[in-house]
Amino acid sequence: MNKPRLAIAGLTACSGCQLTLLNCEEELPEIFARFHLDYFPMAESFHDPQATFDAAIVEGALSTPADLATLFRLRNASRLLIAFGTCALFGGVAAMNNKSSARLTLLNGVYGEASAGVESFPPSPFRNFVSVDFAITGCPPEKSDLLALLGALLAGTLPPTPCYPVCTECRSRENLCLLLEKNELCLGPVIQGGCNARCPASGIVCEGCRGPVREANVAQQLALLLERGFDAKEIERRMSRFTPEWDYGQRR
Ligand code: SF4
Ligand code: SF4
Repeated sequence: MNKPRLAIAGLTACSGCQLTLLNCEEELPEIFARFHLDYFPMAESFHDPQATFDAAIVEGALSTPADLATLFRLRNASRLLIAFGTCALFGGVAAMNNKSSARLTLLNGVYGEASAGVESFPPSPFRNFVSVDFAITGCPPEKSDLLALLGALLAGTLPPTPCYPVCTECRSRENLCLLLEKNELCLGPVIQGGCNARCPASGIVCEGCRGPVREANVAQQLALLLERGFDAKEIERRMSRFTPEWDYGQRR
């Protein structure tokens, strides 16, 4: 069997998603044995500009002309394009300040006068620009989700996407409900599960890092939070932190 050819790349990102792969220390020898990693700028310097791929796994939001060029190159060169992580899928941390006038203040604060020469635009999910064949969410994604994808690619298919909220896993772990029993602003009911309720299981509210679950009942979540006395602006701030363009019905 021919080894699948992979590209692993990042756009505007913190590289945390790509690190999920590098953190698969036990599995890396097997991964290298079963795939050709033909394009992986974070880990290797050489790559063939003419290379084509079976799958390109790409992290990050899109915010510069260079991002666009990389994205179009990978989309054209790859049979499958996979959005890897919350920034790629929803804008995530990179797009956190898009709606705020503070964006320009932040740009000037970081780059000073040089900000006039910074070629960038408000970060957005890259599915706004090209078609995406599959997505793995998470900030960063769970290692198990990445390994499931790689296993499925070897079998010539794609893995299922969980379509249940964080609450499902939280309750199955018999955690105390932070929202109903401790009256804390937990977003678990409308957030994509698959992290095994990582935060609530440690007594910390779900901040929504995996983005919206399919068919999330946002209206009901808003009503519940308001009824429990939370401030509307704070609710919106929290719900849009990882998903600035939040339309909780649009998840693929
Ligand atoms: S999704 Fe999170 S870990 Fe991945 S690039 Fe964005 S900020 Fe970093
Ligand atoms: S519990 Fe929420 S914030 Fe924590 S990892 Fe899961 S989705 Fe992200």
